[in-house]
Amino acid sequence: MSRLRDFVRTCARLALDFALPPRCAGCGTIVADVHSFCPDCWKQVEFLGEGGCACCGLPLQSTDQATCARCLAAPPRIARTRAAVAYDDLSRSLAIRLKYGRKVAIARTMAHYMAPLVKVDGDAVLVPVPLHRTRLWTRGFNQSALVARELSRRLDVAANVLALRRVRRTPPLKGMSPLQRRKAVAGAFRVTDRPAIAGKTIILVDDVLTTGSTADACARALKRAGAARVELVSWARVVKPSQLMR
Ligand SMILES: [Zn+2]
Ligand SMILES: [Zn+2]
Repeated sequence: MSRLRDFVRTCARLALDFALPPRCAGCGTIVADVHSFCPDCWKQVEFLGEGGCACCGLPLQSTDQATCARCLAAPPRIARTRAAVAYDDLSRSLAIRLKYGRKVAIARTMAHYMAPLVKVDGDAVLVPVPLHRTRLWTRGFNQSALVARELSRRLDVAANVLALRRVRRTPPLKGMSPLQRRKAVAGAFRVTDRPAIAGKTIILVDDVLTTGSTADACARALKRAGAARVELVSWARVVKPSQLMR
């Protein structure tokens, strides 16, 4: 019965997708292309793309090296970090609506801009940053899992939304020092399906990347379970204005 309901719902959604003109994910104006921004919002969005350090993705000071000094000195657990856009009012509004509003349409828009940043070679698996089950119960879904599924469809790469679990509730990290953050998320993640992870390139999927402590804790659990390489792709990234290259 529930399968029939899902089927009817999918048909209804597809019908709607065809019947309604595509709208800008930022302001709702009708646009020509599905899952894109109108020219006004486009001008506001700060696309981060492929620039910066080959490893952490942060802007490089004037140098001919591909990797920044920090990553050279201490290679991070996440071998490659990329985000589609800088975190600002517009990208935040999408992240909020992904949690509480037009989930599927927003997840598709995000995936549309994140997909070109994913470099797939060989045995890669998309793994969303998991929510704790109590959060999952109240919200009903994991917003990063929705984006991972859309990326999977677009890139034809496997997604595994269950292999990594958040086994401990973590407090909001806002306002904490780097050390406090690290402590707050230590041991919070666990791989529950080792064969799905071992020997593979794992591409972590997140909606908003702030300091990276949560993603780093995920990477730690994935590496422990035998992941060959861990990368991260997120929708938005908190970047200080001085870090933006114009
Ligand atoms: Zn717009
Ligand atoms: Zn770097």
